Amino acid sequence: MDDCIFCKIAQGRLGSFIFEDDELAAFKDINPAGPVHVLVVPKKHIPGIREVKEDASIIGRMAARAVEIAAEMGISDTGFRLVVNSGPDGGQSVQHLHMHLLGGRPFGWPPG
Ligand code: 5GP
Ligand code: ZN
Repeated sequence: MDDCIFCKIAQGRLGSFIFEDDELAAFKDINPAGPVHVLVVPKKHIPGIREVKEDASIIGRMAARAVEIAAEMGISDTGFRLVVNSGPDGGQSVQHLHMHLLGGRPFGWPPG
C-alpha cells in the first residue's frame, strides 16, 4: 500500500533493517519504549492481527524471528516482551501488522 509507512520501510524505501528475508522485515522503533525496541513486520500489507486469517502461521514465524533477534541483542537471559496491539483499545496506531520486541529493562504488568 502506497500510503502505509510500514510498507515503505518493509520495501526498503525508508530506514534500515535489523533483519530481512522474503517474508519478514525487522527494524528499530522510531520512539523506543526501552533500550531494545524492535518491530517485526510482514512485507505483505496485512492491516492487523484480526486480518491474518488463513495467514495465521505468520504470527508464529514473526514470534520466532523476534526470539532470535532478542538472542542476538543479548536480552534472551534477562527476558523480553512480545506485543501485538490490536484496534483502538489495544493501542494500535499503525495499521500494518507488527510485533513489538521490548527488552533491556523490566516492564510492569498490567500495561497502562
Ligand atoms: P502500535 O502503537 O501500532 O502498536 O505501534 C506502532 C509503533 O510504530 C510505535 O511504537 C511507533 O513508535 C512506531 N513507528 C511509527 N512510525 C514509525 C516510523 O516511521 N518508523 C519506525 N521505525 N517506527 C515507527
Ligand atoms: Zn502496509
